[in-house]
Amino acid sequence: MSMMLIRNGRLADDRELEDLYIRDGKIEKVGVNLSVEKEPDTVIDAKGKVILPTLIECHIHPDKAFLEERKPNESGTLEEAIKNTGELKADYTYGDVKERAEKVIQWVLRHGTTIMRAHPDVDHIEELLGVEVLLELKKKYKEVLDLQIVVFPQEGIFKSPGTLERMEEGLRKGADVVGGCPYNEESLEDSKRHLEAVFDLAEKYDLPLDLHVDFADNLEDPRYLLTETICEMTVERGMQGKVALGHVTTLGSMNPKDAEVLFDKIAEAGITIVPLPATDVYLNGRNDEKNIRRGMAPVGKLLEHGVNVAFSSNNIRNAFTPFGNGNLLLIGYLLAETQFMGSAEQQRKVLELITYNAAKLLGMEDSYGLAPGKNADFNIFDSTKLSDVIQDQPAALYVVKRGKIIVENDVQTKRHI
Ligand SMILES: [Zn+2]
Repeated sequence: MSMMLIRNGRLADDRELEDLYIRDGKIEKVGVNLSVEKEPDTVIDAKGKVILPTLIECHIHPDKAFLEERKPNESGTLEEAIKNTGELKADYTYGDVKERAEKVIQWVLRHGTTIMRAHPDVDHIEELLGVEVLLELKKKYKEVLDLQIVVFPQEGIFKSPGTLERMEEGLRKGADVVGGCPYNEESLEDSKRHLEAVFDLAEKYDLPLDLHVDFADNLEDPRYLLTETICEMTVERGMQGKVALGHVTTLGSMNPKDAEVLFDKIAEAGITIVPLPATDVYLNGRNDEKNIRRGMAPVGKLLEHGVNVAFSSNNIRNAFTPFGNGNLLLIGYLLAETQFMGSAEQQRKVLELITYNAAKLLGMEDSYGLAPGKNADFNIFDSTKLSDVIQDQPAALYVVKRGKIIVENDVQTKRHI
């Protein structure tokens, strides 16, 4: 039986400092000046620093991370990103994918992320290599990382023969979620068939659905305008609460009145929207010569309409996103800046998107949070207020998983002035 006591943590900006008492990987008590009968194995004085439940990367591609140095995206377009990555995939080996994916895991753990939903490509080029690597890493890191694996048809389903069969094989091997990429088909009709196919697969295996959709900044190509159709399909098939959509950047370019109607439909269908700021801002707005758009789904409006919104890194250093260090707080800063979320309340809200909202998307609400009975998965950050975390960009001083310290980051400043 292992016990841990954290003293004097900042759990909320409007409450006193509180203690956490942890036993056997679960939080047992939370309160001010907790009294404990037995001396715990580990005692940490948080000294008023912020404690947040573990951060969650709910949408990330470890199999294609760190490819930027092999073939940069010179035009900066989505088309070139898909093309370059498609060419590089042909040379993947198991060892190469494993080395890069494992580096992503190590980087995110360092920054306090211990829950992840990964989207490895499944297609005629990469086949099931990414899925197999991630299944191995899921086993290897099971003590420190809760990993969900999505079978993701990046190259389309009808454009990439055999993909649907491979996706099903990936699920039989242990993948957890059905992915989709309906915009990457030759015609609108094929995009709709793509949606039917992935909804059918999710229903057959009773699994959640996580799609890349509406990833554009213009409204001319109907393959990039399928969110309304997806809302209707979600309700028809009774899959409310089990569908997530990544990007959905067209929501930021729509006529505001039409967009508001759609926001309500998204909320009614219980769909989570996952903006991917580092990619969305980088790839969109490329044809704007002035008043260049941010190219993101409007986070504040979606929240006002009651939509569950999260966000994530998506890619780390590849043709889709040449940036990234596995730190969700950095992505949060980008989101806060570009979505005008600057007040103290809004900056705290940004933190909710990568904690509680992402946990809801992953179906982990029952075990997640800083309350008795929840998994002891949390970070102590080097900030004294939750509303400062995004702008402080603090180190995760302690990263705790199931009641064990798995990472410590030291911060030391030597002043010579
Ligand atoms: Zn993605």
